[in-house]
Amino acid sequence: MQVVTTWLTTGERINRSVPVIPAPFSYHRPKTIAEAIVLLNQHGDDGRVLAGGQSLIPMMKLRLAAPEHLIDIGGIVELKGVQLRGDTLVIGAITTQHELQGSKIRRHARRQRRQRRSGKRHASRYALP
Ligand SMILES: Cc1cc2nc3c(=O)[nH]c(=O)nc-3n(C[C@H](O)[C@H](O)[C@H](O)COP(=O)(O)OP(=O)(O)OC[C@H]3O[C@@H](n4cnc5c(N)ncnc54)[C@H](O)[C@@H]3O)c2cc1C
Repeated sequence: MQVVTTWLTTGERINRSVPVIPAPFSYHRPKTIAEAIVLLNQHGDDGRVLAGGQSLIPMMKLRLAAPEHLIDIGGIVELKGVQLRGDTLVIGAITTQHELQGSKIRRHARRQRRQRRSGKRHASRYALP
């Protein structure tokens, strides 16, 4: 089989005459959550989110998945990172495992949770009946 590398820009459609492995699709790369939502609403069930592509791309190569529109959220900076919002640890949808493991906030939240747990254990152990 002939190997063809095709570089896509946002909204560009793969030329059907180009021999590629997956079924034809349009590629979108929104820059904001709002843009991604517009695309998802526009394309409904024909659209599919692409994050890291570890599962979706092999499925597309085998044609077990054939989305008409691929919405790549990899460029949405708002979806990256780990934040502590009050008591809630918020992990962005495109945060990598490596970033999560190295996150100071995650370590801080884990320490707090451990302290709370040991505090509870301590309190129950010494609680008066
Ligand atoms: C060699 C290998 C080893 C693996 N080992 C493990 C393992 O040990 N443990 C484990 O848990 N997994 C494992 N996996 C699975 C891997 O973690 C998944 O492929 C991964 O979680 C998919 O994430 P992705 O970002 O690549 O998603 P994608 O492949 O981009 O997407 C997967 C699906 O999720 C949807 N999706 C993605 N992001 C969003 C979003 N923000 N909102 C809505 N829908 C979304 C996509 O439309 C698609 O249907 C392994 C995979 C491989 C290839």
